[in-house]
Amino acid sequence: MVKAVLFDLDGTLLDRDASVNQFVSVQYDRLNKHLSHIPKNDYIARFIELDCHGHVWKDKVYQDLVSEFAIEGMSWQSLLEDYEMQFQNHCVPFEFLTEMLTELKDRGYLLGIITNGRSPFQARAIDGLAIRDYFDAILISEVEQVRKPQVEIFQRAMNRLGVSALESVFIGDHPEVDIVGAKGAMMKTIWKRNLSWTEAKEADAIVDELKEIPLVLAHFNSR
Ligand SMILES: [Mg+2]
Repeated sequence: MVKAVLFDLDGTLLDRDASVNQFVSVQYDRLNKHLSHIPKNDYIARFIELDCHGHVWKDKVYQDLVSEFAIEGMSWQSLLEDYEMQFQNHCVPFEFLTEMLTELKDRGYLLGIITNGRSPFQARAIDGLAIRDYFDAILISEVEQVRKPQVEIFQRAMNRLGVSALESVFIGDHPEVDIVGAKGAMMKTIWKRNLSWTEAKEADAIVDELKEIPLVLAHFNSR
């Protein structure tokens, strides 16, 4: 019987590609005084390229942008601070996010998030989506000093929720970090399909949209 549903954040609840696009576009307009010599599309495209789907932290991204585009009057540190403070205002949810969370809460599931990333940046993104109150446990790797796919972070989350692996489902977009990791902790898994990977062999179920999740959980419980 599933009692707890745990989620990855980036690419699963937060539409990170849309969020980054929106943020960088607005940052360019806001800081136009220092960036106007760069064509806007070039600034956005280069940021996205250097960011490498979030795998490169933004200190490195802004250092490269400042040097490549010869940005003057604004240091990479100031650009990074702007990112850290402003990104939360551009957090774009995947469709049906709050509807899905409301439905799971109404059905009595405990909810959790396990995200690899920095704190307080990830915490601000959760607030940017305005979903904190839905969750009974939130684990951010920098705080926990352990990260997915390490089994320990999944086990720690289940301990905090007071549930066993047999009672827990993990939902994420990364076949290795999320799905193989959670399987290692003996959890059931749902892969949120996306264009970055062709398959997640180990997943117990696959969804394309968040609204499909309540039905998949009901199906797990009927087996
Ligand atoms: Mg992810």
